Amino acid sequence: MLTRLGVLGWPVAHSRSPAMHNGALEALGLAPDWRYQLLPVPPELLAETVRALPAAGFRGANVTIPHKEAALALADGATPRARAIGAANTLLFTPEGRIDADNTDAPGLVAALPEPPQGRTALVLGAGGSARAAAWALRDAGAADVAVWNRTPGRARALAADLGVRAVEHAEPADLLVNCTAVGLHGGDEALKDLPVRADALTEYACVVDLVYRDGGTPLLAAAARQGCAVVDGLEVLVRQGALSLEAFVGRPAPVAVMRRAAGAQRSPT
Ligand code: NAP
Repeated sequence: MLTRLGVLGWPVAHSRSPAMHNGALEALGLAPDWRYQLLPVPPELLAETVRALPAAGFRGANVTIPHKEAALALADGATPRARAIGAANTLLFTPEGRIDADNTDAPGLVAALPEPPQGRTALVLGAGGSARAAAWALRDAGAADVAVWNRTPGRARALAADLGVRAVEHAEPADLLVNCTAVGLHGGDEALKDLPVRADALTEYACVVDLVYRDGGTPLLAAAARQGCAVVDGLEVLVRQGALSLEAFVGRPAPVAVMRRAAGAQRSPT
């Protein structure tokens, strides 16, 4: 019988997860008995669709926008990190009929960094779902200081109070800059005016991570690379969270290099 995996989202047609996971299933010798597919599901149908997936042969699913909070809420159990972050990107369907939730966005970010964040300072831009996962991950990994800036300052303050980090109203220098806003999705240097950092002064950050990814790269990473910062592309973060989810689904080490190639990542972290 076919063992199925998929990614729940709305819309989700643009997702690189099927290519990345099917590449991995093939490399592990699990295809064609295992297959990973798109699961486009509108919010009002999420809970009933997820409950029906195990009977249709699904072992697990990834979860993307806009379902990450709802996925945590409908699960029977969740890891402490998914609860602390308030969102799940991975659902596991157990043989006993339980739905267990996890969040691999957080350890995926840490795995994508060129060096462990322990003892380092970080500035996180944004206060949405991915910023919550990033701030929690950096604090949990022992960062010396995690500051959070957001366009709407009240949301940064709420995130900071929830996760035990620090809200700031202006950018501060740090070892690590992590963009978790949607700025840069459509390219163009003018987008950077919406961020509190100056595109020509990024040497204040030794390493710049942009969770946003797009063909041709993002303006923030292009500016950071020009100034000699280490840069981590959002696709690398996507690959690392996917690798951790896949390991939970199949119980074997993930072929990260295969997944990186299949996702279309242009470079590994520098
Ligand atoms: P989200 O929950 O919708 O949060 C969006 C964030 O972007 C908010 O902080 C929002 O600020 C900010 N923002 C939006 N437009 C802005 C603008 N013009 N200027 C300044 N700030 C702006 O989204 P999310 O799930 O956190 O995702 C954020 C981005 O990360 C998306 O582009 C997504 O594609 C990417 N992402 C990548 C990965 C990966 O694996 N690489 C994983 C998750 C997300 P306000 O609060 O002021 O509205």
